[in-house]
Amino acid sequence: MNEQWISFANGIKDLYQKDFVPLHEPTFNETEIDYVTDCVKSGWVSSVGKYVDRFEQELAEFTGVQRTVAVVNGTAALQIALKIAGVQQDDEVFMPSLTFVATANAASYLQAVPHFVDVSEKTLGLDPVKLEEHIKDIGEMKSGQLTNKHTGRIIRAVVPMHTFGHPVDLDPLIEVCERYNFVLVEDAAESLGSYYKGKHTGGFGRVSALSFNGNKIMTTGGGGAILTNDDKLADYAKHITTTAKVPHRWAYEHDEIGYNYRMPNINAALGCAQLQKISTFIEEKRQLTEIYEELVSGLDGVSLFKEPTNTTGNYWLQTLVLEQKHNRDAVLDFLNENGVMSRPIWTPMHELELFKNMPTADLTITKKLKNTLINIPSTPLKVK
Ligand SMILES: *Cc1c(COP(=O)(O)O)cnc(C)c1O
Repeated sequence: MNEQWISFANGIKDLYQKDFVPLHEPTFNETEIDYVTDCVKSGWVSSVGKYVDRFEQELAEFTGVQRTVAVVNGTAALQIALKIAGVQQDDEVFMPSLTFVATANAASYLQAVPHFVDVSEKTLGLDPVKLEEHIKDIGEMKSGQLTNKHTGRIIRAVVPMHTFGHPVDLDPLIEVCERYNFVLVEDAAESLGSYYKGKHTGGFGRVSALSFNGNKIMTTGGGGAILTNDDKLADYAKHITTTAKVPHRWAYEHDEIGYNYRMPNINAALGCAQLQKISTFIEEKRQLTEIYEELVSGLDGVSLFKEPTNTTGNYWLQTLVLEQKHNRDAVLDFLNENGVMSRPIWTPMHELELFKNMPTADLTITKKLKNTLINIPSTPLKVK
């Protein structure tokens, strides 16, 4: 690798003042320690306690979504979101092939079938124009339901994913959903603090999912949340994620097969502390983008991915876009060997052995992007 890359790597190490810069680390201070200590001292560390209610309420206030239900992780949130949105066994669910495996797993847990579609280079997320072209190709309306004419299965939902915190172009996607009568469920796991036309992601779907895993923009250790503006769906989400127990002072009655997916109080305590700082994290990440722009300008044939028009992103993970002339693996080897942790975007779902027989649309852009996108260190930086 040449001088340009050496000074790029050194620039990042200087910025973080470290010899080895991790991809993303959580940021904690006294508040986290205070809240978790208070939770432990109270004895209420598990499935009941004041922090869960407080976390759900504060998350609703921050996102502007009416109701939130805190759960054990983002994958569980997505599984329940799909279930309460009406996804059933043998339904198909449109989703990008270019996503983290949780999106496809969540549909599979319900015995539904992921149907992989292409992404846009402008957003890195699902492309509504290509989706509609694909529907015209393979879809037919049968008794008011979009059906895949090759498999005979109902296509029940679409799950856009806001890649690295950059919102998908939602307005045209919503139109497609309405035109063909299927449900929008957002995988907003990466986009807490990201807005499309001024409205928070996760507020567009009938139901949406967030993640608070340790590597996300804020963490509860492990955790997730189901978001919806529909009170009935929110109540139902709470019910089936708490073993579908019928409320009673002492009796154990359950009215369906439920899930033990509730977020423990100790995790919610950590979450309440993190949520107080979310605006600072976002601001610092957006400032990091400006610093990286300067560093990346010294690299030939490389650009920094910037937020699409109409969106304000959280810049959860900073992303380099390599021109085809670069060898992605050589770049990754160099950066990782030189103290700058970096990684490629996920292997697309349609290339995984376990999903290789799922229905797919044309995936030209996915196949191009999988070799050109690299994430570089993105921990929020205290900017003086
Ligand atoms: C993190 C993530 C999830 C959920 O992850 P959990 O680790 O289960 O909290 C889902 N989808 C995407 C795209 C993610 O990045």
